[in-house]
Amino acid sequence: MVKAAVLYETKTPLVVEELELDDPQAGEVLVKIGAAGICRSDRHFMHGDAPIALPVVLGHEGAGTVEKVGPGVTSVRPGQQVILSFVPSCGRCKSCVTGKSHLCDNHAATGPNMYDGTTRLHKGDQRIHHMGKTACFAEYSVVPETGCVPIDTPIGMDKAALIGCCVPTGVGAVTSSAKVTPGSTVAVIGCGGVGLNVIMGAALVNASKIIAIDIRESQLEFAMKFGATHTVNASDKDPVAQVKELTGGKGADYTFEVFGSADTVKAAYDMAGKSGTVTIVGIAPVGAEAAINAVDMVRNEKTMRGTYYGSTHSSVEMPKLVDMYLAGKLNLDDLVVRHYSLDQINDAYDDMDKGEVGRGVIMY
Ligand SMILES: [Zn+2]
Ligand SMILES: [Zn+2]
Repeated sequence: MVKAAVLYETKTPLVVEELELDDPQAGEVLVKIGAAGICRSDRHFMHGDAPIALPVVLGHEGAGTVEKVGPGVTSVRPGQQVILSFVPSCGRCKSCVTGKSHLCDNHAATGPNMYDGTTRLHKGDQRIHHMGKTACFAEYSVVPETGCVPIDTPIGMDKAALIGCCVPTGVGAVTSSAKVTPGSTVAVIGCGGVGLNVIMGAALVNASKIIAIDIRESQLEFAMKFGATHTVNASDKDPVAQVKELTGGKGADYTFEVFGSADTVKAAYDMAGKSGTVTIVGIAPVGAEAAINAVDMVRNEKTMRGTYYGSTHSSVEMPKLVDMYLAGKLNLDDLVVRHYSLDQINDAYDDMDKGEVGRGVIMY
């Protein structure tokens, strides 16, 4: 039996209770979870803004220690620290073989089930789904072998957990997707966990101006710790006009939407300058549509693209991010602000809703 937080119905609190967890099957690994981050993506499932099969154990930003491996597993061994990837790669589909394993087709087709379409979590006869095949809002999780990335030099579990979602998503949006060049101007809408990592990524590649945009003054002040050079409070004045003013009337070279709404997608587009690149990182509610000025897009040669999970292969990128943290290039120590127990998980999400700065992490 393992203690887990279960979502039975949208818009109701998570239920912390004991579930049965099967042994890892072929190609699977049992991980003792060390830490799990409080990310907004889980909240979207709780609110019903994004669909998922219920009941489900959420939690997709996690790290832990390998407890046991199933038949045929060769890349990890018991005792190793691992970071979980919520897009394990099957290695065979079109996305995987064309260098886009973060979009694995077989993972998308099987969703919150294991690759064979079944679950390892049960409560009596009831099957319980595993969000992202990670389900780390639980003391233990069974994950695909490719869904756990071993770390050579152990780091704090809370920091390792963050390298499971907000760090690669944010830094990768800058380095792998937009490919921001040194000296560029950058505007970032939304200063939550992922937004702060976009800001850190922009600082890493030596952007000249990094403009942080949010509606809360506390978030903006906090963003300065991670490399923001200017801040814009979008609740005071039009953020598009303010970004234009800060960039000499031109608009930013690179803009990032990290909030997840139609209005902020449009704002990210409008505040990009000539030849600007607009990168959409935030996931808006299902059905959201943003109106884009079609003439401006052509005349000013703007590029607009989405990026998912940093647009890189987890098993390549995550170890690099661990090394960058160890080298003092990523400020993950200041990013983790609050620790909670699994029993406090609903409070942890309420704190996120209230707009508390930085990341909260469940520690096991
Ligand atoms: Zn996340
Ligand atoms: Zn695949």
